This record gives sequence, structure tokens and C-alpha cells, in this order.
Amino acid sequence: MPIDEASQRLADVRARIVRAAKTAGRAADAVTLIAISKTHDAGTIAPLIAAGQRVFGENRVQEAEGKWPKLREATSGIALHLVGQLQSNKAEDAVALFDAIHSVDRPSLVQALARAMDKAGKRPACFLQVNIGDEEQKGGCAVAELPALLAEARAADLPVQGLMCVPPLDLEAAPYFALLAKIARDHGLGGLSMGMSGDFETAVTIGATHVRVGTALFGARA
Ligand SMILES: *Cc1c(COP(=O)(O)O)cnc(C)c1O
Repeated sequence: MPIDEASQRLADVRARIVRAAKTAGRAADAVTLIAISKTHDAGTIAPLIAAGQRVFGENRVQEAEGKWPKLREATSGIALHLVGQLQSNKAEDAVALFDAIHSVDRPSLVQALARAMDKAGKRPACFLQVNIGDEEQKGGCAVAELPALLAEARAADLPVQGLMCVPPLDLEAAPYFALLAKIARDHGLGGLSMGMSGDFETAVTIGATHVRVGTALFGARA
């Protein structure tokens, strides 16, 4: 992707965030845009970095390890967020590479991350992922299990910043975003990681602090 196209796409997404925030009476700088670069190679990502984007997200530890160390060497100030499911045996690798982990969804992973963070002396921000539509075969803890998971994460000294969700496909996202926002409020959590290319403006009006946008920035994935 040429740099001017990357700049254009980035400016467009940022403008839409600003508009949505304004509609809701929120400050646009309360929203962090995470550019989801999964499946895209370094050559596709570099123009977006050149255009000024610094916060990126990946869904696989191994894929991220393959491309980010080099990209980070070339530009300082890059933050990397993990937004995909994490196996406990990859916890150390994830803690080493990422600045935030959005997919903390079960007690065994809380414990693996706590051990990895103690060992590394580094504590990436954590979001607890909630299966907000209570769907079969979807990542995230059940809504009913969230209080216990949060208590466990806090007891293990994970820096829990907020909640994350991916609402059911093909359904209106707003009610699910609103439910996640309410659960976060009820538990004194300020961070809300919600909203993707198809619904990030809706998420911003409902309080998202982190939107995860891939397609609108990079085009369709292969
Ligand atoms: C891929 C992905 C995104 C980005 O999706 P787009 O629709 O391409 O914006 C956001 N969040 C998660 C968890 C993802 O896996």
C-alpha cells in the first residue's frame, strides 16, 4: 500500500472516531486506535507506521514474533497489543513481546500470565475478554464467570485495565457494547476494548477506550 493511501485511510478512520466521540460528548483522545495488522506483512504495515500510526494489534504470538522485532527496531514508540486467543504455554512469549493483552479469559491463563510477568519483571496491561453474547465456541469468559475471573486476576496482581469483547456476528452490536460497558462500570474498570471496522463508531459512542480496526486501515485480508 502506498504511503499516501495509508495516510488517507488512517485520516479517515481517525476522523470517524473524532466525529463519533463528539456525538457522544466524549474526548476523541480518550480513544486509542489499535491498527490490527494480523496476516499483513511488514511491507504492508510500514506505510501505516510512516503515516504516523504507532499502536498495532496482532492475534497470534508466533506471527507477531516474526515481523515486529524488526519493525520496532526501525521506529521507536510502537505499542503492540495481543487481541487473539492465548495458550498458557505462550504466556512468556506474549509477555515479552506485547504491551497489552486483550484476551485474558480463564483462570489457568491468569496464573500463567502472573508467573510470566513475575519472571520477566514486566507487566503488560490486561483486558479480560468476555463472551458477551454467551456464544458456543467463542473466546472469552462467560458473563456469569467474569466476577470470579476478575477477582482472581486482581489477586494475582495482573494490571487489569478493562474488558474486551467481540459481539456476535450478524447482530446489532450496540446492545452488547452497552452490556460490556455496564459490567465494566459495575466492577470499577475504565478500559473498554470494543469495536472493529464494521462498528467502531458505535463502540465509541458507547464508551470504547480502545477500538481494534483492521480492514478499514489495511483493506480486506486474503
Ligand atoms: C481481526 C480482528 C479485529 C479487526 O477486525 P476488522 O473487522 O478487520 O477491523 C478486531 N478484533 C479482533 C479480536 C480481531 O481478531
